[in-house]
Amino acid sequence: MKTIKISGKLYKPPIFIAGPCVVQKEENNIIENAREVKKAGAVMLRGGAFKPRSDPKSFQGLGEEGLKLLVQARDETNLPIVTEIMDASQIELFKKYDIDVWQIGARNMANSHLLKAIGRALPNDKAVLLKRGFAATKKELLFAIEYLTSNAGREQVMVCERGIRTFASGEYDRFTFDIDIIADLANDKNFPHLIIADPSHAAGRSELIENISLAAIAAGADGLIIETMLDNADRNKILCDANQATKISDLKKILEKAKRMWEIR
Ligand code: PEP
Ligand code: MN
Repeated sequence: MKTIKISGKLYKPPIFIAGPCVVQKEENNIIENAREVKKAGAVMLRGGAFKPRSDPKSFQGLGEEGLKLLVQARDETNLPIVTEIMDASQIELFKKYDIDVWQIGARNMANSHLLKAIGRALPNDKAVLLKRGFAATKKELLFAIEYLTSNAGREQVMVCERGIRTFASGEYDRFTFDIDIIADLANDKNFPHLIIADPSHAAGRSELIENISLAAIAAGADGLIIETMLDNADRNKILCDANQATKISDLKKILEKAKRMWEIR
């Protein structure tokens, strides 16, 4: 079984990561999300402080203040933090706040200079969550992993399928979730990296999250990363990816079923 050690703790599949798309202070606040996702079965907390938004007029994230809130959430719950690093200029901040898992987003997977810089800078006890670009082939994904590991000299990389662009994507979902690459990588006994599935960005809407999650685990994924919202939060006040946010009460059911799926597959 593949495992990963992060900040001194060993994680074994199934690895469930959950939390809001973006760190917010008031509506859908990160601290309460952290407490609730932990109760629902998540072992890591996600939340974006630096967001890669397509629309420059949209909320870009709280930046350093967001990292501070994530640290506060970690202090309260002991959940390691997964958050996106957009640019090499943020490396020092990621070290300063002792960020446990440095997420490299789909839009940056092909940024080889950033991959090299992160590979060199990543502290020994930290990890990377590398998302597959939405137009990236398997070969390009493997090259991106190589950029990270050859510079880091170790295997602290989890890879994440989050949906790709196809003729159908956008019609009833946001991206087409590529179940095949999960089955393919899981089947490869020499592929050493944990495979995490992100149903949220593929689906783009909360109703599809459960089915895609279970399918991903059945196909061989080692874990899930799911975007959440508090049950009593106002979806209209969520500043990023509101439609795909899974209510925590639903998250709990999804993770229970996903665990059962993982056990029987
Ligand atoms: C995210 O995780 O919020 C995100 C922006 O993901 P992706 O890079 O897969 O679009
Ligand atoms: Mn998101």
